[in-house]
Amino acid sequence: MTLFPSPFPTRLYYECLELQPIISRLMLKIATDHAFLHETLGTVARVDDYTRNLLNIDSTVQKEGQSQEFISCINRSDYMLHQSDSTAPLQVRQVEMNAIACGMGVHSSNAKLMHDYIMSKYHISEPKVVSSPENSSLRCVLGGIIDAFDLYGKNDAFVLMVIEDRSINFADQFGIELAVGKARPDVRFARRSFSSLSGVLRLGPNKELLLENKEIALVYFRYGYDPSNYNFTGAWDLRLLIERSRAIKCPSINFHLSGAKKFQQVLNNCEQLERYLSADEAKRLARVSCKIWPIDNSPEGEEGFQIGIKDSRNLVLKPQREGGGHNIFSEDIGPFLAKIAKSDERTQYILMEYIRSPKEKNCLLLYEDDPTKDPERLNNLDELVSELGIYGSIIADGVGIKSNKHDGYLVRSKKFGTNEGGVASGYAGLSSLILVDDSLEGYDHSAYYYESG
Ligand code: ADP
Ligand code: MG
Repeated sequence: MTLFPSPFPTRLYYECLELQPIISRLMLKIATDHAFLHETLGTVARVDDYTRNLLNIDSTVQKEGQSQEFISCINRSDYMLHQSDSTAPLQVRQVEMNAIACGMGVHSSNAKLMHDYIMSKYHISEPKVVSSPENSSLRCVLGGIIDAFDLYGKNDAFVLMVIEDRSINFADQFGIELAVGKARPDVRFARRSFSSLSGVLRLGPNKELLLENKEIALVYFRYGYDPSNYNFTGAWDLRLLIERSRAIKCPSINFHLSGAKKFQQVLNNCEQLERYLSADEAKRLARVSCKIWPIDNSPEGEEGFQIGIKDSRNLVLKPQREGGGHNIFSEDIGPFLAKIAKSDERTQYILMEYIRSPKEKNCLLLYEDDPTKDPERLNNLDELVSELGIYGSIIADGVGIKSNKHDGYLVRSKKFGTNEGGVASGYAGLSSLILVDDSLEGYDHSAYYYESG
């Protein structure tokens, strides 16, 4: 984690926060417009088995008729500050929308508590701070789980949390179980690896999802977001079995698909967003959207491809993948595009404008890092950039939205100049927010230093 909280302009924080229920509703609209979902991802599915398998499951359950009317999604939209040059006003840009396995809800709440403790213990103050918002990310995740459990309507049923075989996210996942247990002791959990469920889960006479005779009310996926997660025999049949069942899924397969990066590209301006949102909502979302091109062989894709070949310094190339480590940045894009120029592979990428975040001074504590060993460390603070995530939780049925909540945030900070940004992968650290005065456009963000009292 970082030693100190990260400064963020107040106005831009609230801009992101207030967008969250709109984004959750947009994801619902995408998820439930099956024609649009399949048309948009159909070209990706031609070259990408993972997307094709997900779409096939969606088609199958649509054909058979959904046995569970409620669909649920705990999601998180990620942003970075953007400043095109040092005199330009600060803006925010959306990095991506996550629809499955949105983690760190527990850790980010704890990071805020840790920073409160540090700031108070060492009497650190920052005169320009407007506020330090509470972080209720954990509450948002709990709300999504408990609301879905209640809608299922069976008190003795369980929540099944689907996790990795060897989970490095143990503390974040188990923290949810503990917090739900405190708030609602009647909501019981089974936490199992995805592969261990193969041949163990079955459907009852009314399509109840049964795990060793326990009825499952909600399947909460913290796994299943990457093709490698399906590398065991029967994995896709297992996902289909879960989707067919009466259990509520978080996310349902169509919600999972709505988080595909391709939708960010297709719904990239007001006109396209107005397909699902009001003119005002579309304008607000378009304002934080990066310019994004396809690179397929459509006329727009050809244009994107040529832009990437000619000058890729300010670009990021992304496949339809989650979980970090898949993107191609800047100068690496040109040679990569040249390699796939004649391939159908082009359909699965989007080309995105690079977000230029201003540097902040802070101290990034990475693994095995002991700042007390270096007396100069606090005089030579690291230059970092931060990514802000806002959590949302939405549940809907065929008629409409049952609940649409947003609450809490995640801040991950990485060294300036590092492209990838994962915490578990060791690039970034968890942080928390202090909101600073942003009434003056174009102020120098790096001027926010921390001075120990
Ligand atoms: P993933 O689904 O793998 O998390 P992201 O779209 O979040 O994919 O990209 C991973 C990381 O790459 C982000 O956390 C961010 O640090 C960086 N990144 C992504 N898009 C951009 C962009 N347009 N400009 C600058 N950095 C980006
Ligand atoms: Mg991400």
